[in-house]
Amino acid sequence: MAAGRNDAVLLSQILEFRPAQVVVANEEVRQRLISRLSASLLPADRWPELLAGSRALVEVATAGEIDTLISAIVGVSGLEATYQSVRAGKRVGLANKEVLVSGGQVVMEAVRRSGAELIPIDSEHNGAHQCLRAGERSEVRRLILTASGGPFRDTPKEKLAEVTPAQALNHPTWKMGSRITIDSATLMNKGFEVIEACWLFDLDPSQVDVVVHPQSSVHAMVEYGDGSILAQLSVTDMRMPIQYALTYPERRQSPVSRMDWTQARTWQFYPPDLDKFPLLRLAYECQRAGGSATCTLNAADEVAVEAFLEERITFPDLAGIVEDTLARFPSREPESIQDILGIDRESRSLARQLVEQRAGRKERLAQSLKT
Ligand code: MG
Repeated sequence: MAAGRNDAVLLSQILEFRPAQVVVANEEVRQRLISRLSASLLPADRWPELLAGSRALVEVATAGEIDTLISAIVGVSGLEATYQSVRAGKRVGLANKEVLVSGGQVVMEAVRRSGAELIPIDSEHNGAHQCLRAGERSEVRRLILTASGGPFRDTPKEKLAEVTPAQALNHPTWKMGSRITIDSATLMNKGFEVIEACWLFDLDPSQVDVVVHPQSSVHAMVEYGDGSILAQLSVTDMRMPIQYALTYPERRQSPVSRMDWTQARTWQFYPPDLDKFPLLRLAYECQRAGGSATCTLNAADEVAVEAFLEERITFPDLAGIVEDTLARFPSREPESIQDILGIDRESRSLARQLVEQRAGRKERLAQSLKT
């Protein structure tokens, strides 16, 4: 098992699942975990081996006795271990976005060489993976990913400058971390999913459509050449796609709740507003452009989201920062994970400068209104 800094939750997971090895973010967290284990009832000779840092992460992800890796570390810190696991030919259940958004080309080349199985855990791609089992790849015409539309689906565009982080964090259907929730409010998250779908299923961006479906019951649809469309439906519970990645190609019983067809229900579908949510449009453009554009897209967005959460920039500035970063950062062809991490770092530092400029303007304006 690997974790970041939450040693409290990790302790309870160690006691419940008794892993052989545990990796945490750094030595400081490792020491905290040691104190917690010492205070627990678990005798020291039954503790897992306790490791820390990114090298240890790669070691456990590629260890011989591992057959399946669930890659769920948030951010680029999950990239190297996931890539090495793919190279080692493991089955990888993928819940980390950066692996394909930032490293798509390099990672997919490794998948082709090693024959590793990449099974998406994100609900939309997992749904698509299921729908694609119904036909041949050559028969697929397009993929349709659904989007909840986020909390500002019905907010007029001119009101978006006033929305607060608290409002943006109030996602209608999924309970998630703060970055992905903001990314859902801007539809950036759906843009990332379009990029990931292109890599996962070898599709051109023109073959991936997004449709807003506020109820989040249909996760994805695949349209075949004959006009038949298959959809994957389930309640919003991530345990189902996680289990799918673990048991594929088998299906096992799962504890998730079921759709209740004795109740009347209405599902809506409508096209996304690319004018109101320009980050979705930018994602298509970056995937078409290729090279490192999608890596810069992700890096700039993460910096912008942090600044928005700190109330330093407005909601429409999120897209502004990302667009300006992309315009100023020259795209190049990444050839290795190290290249990608370098592009990620440089893009972030440029995005931070652009945030400072905008935040500075915002603060000066607020000051002049006060005086
Ligand atoms: Mg999703």
